[in-house]
Amino acid sequence: MAAGNVLPRPVQNLINEFARLPGIGPKSAARLTFYLLRAASDQALELAAALQDLKEKTQLCSVCYNITEENPCLICSADDRERQVLCVVEEPLDVLAIERAHAYGGLYHVLHGAISPVEGIGPDDLKIAELVQRLEQGGFREVIIATNATLEGDATTLYLQRRLAGLPGLRLTRLARGLSVGGDLEYTDAITLGRALEGRQELL
Ligand SMILES: [Zn+2]
Repeated sequence: MAAGNVLPRPVQNLINEFARLPGIGPKSAARLTFYLLRAASDQALELAAALQDLKEKTQLCSVCYNITEENPCLICSADDRERQVLCVVEEPLDVLAIERAHAYGGLYHVLHGAISPVEGIGPDDLKIAELVQRLEQGGFREVIIATNATLEGDATTLYLQRRLAGLPGLRLTRLARGLSVGGDLEYTDAITLGRALEGRQELL
C-alpha cells in the first residue's frame, strides 16, 4: 500500500505551487503554506488578489516590452525622455535598476532573456526581431546594449552587434565593464551602474 499523504489536498497544492517558484525549496514552500494557514484570513485573500491582479492587470508594453499597467508604458509615453537613445536590457528588473541609478533619460527595449545555447534559447525566443523593426523605423541615434556581464549576456551583445551593424547612422555602445563578471544588472548598485553608463564603450 502506498503511503497516504496526510496533508489535506489544498495544503499540499499550495506547497507544490510555492515549490515551483525559483529559490524556494520544499521546506520553504511548506513553511510559507503553514504560515498562511495560520495567518488572518484577509492576509491570504490579499495575497490571492495580488496574484490575480499580477496577471490580469499587467501586460507587456507594445513598444518596449517592459511590464506595464498601461500600454504604452509610462516611460514610452513620457514627454521628457530622450527619444533618440535606446537602452537594450534583458529583463524588466534591469529597467528598474537603471532607473534607480538616475543616470539615463532615454528609452528602453526589453529582450526578455538572453541567448543561451545551453538552455536552448536563441534569438527568435527574444524580442530581437521587434528591436530591429523598431530601429528600422528610424529616429534613433544610439543603442546602448546593457546585457548582464555573463556568458549569455555577452553572446547576446555579440549577436546584436552583428545584427544591427547594417543600420545606418546608428551609434552602437555597451556598458563599461565595471560590472563584476557574472554580475546581473539588477543586483548592481546605482553608482556602479551610473558609471558603467557614463563610461559606455563603442561597439565596432
Ligand atoms: Zn514601453
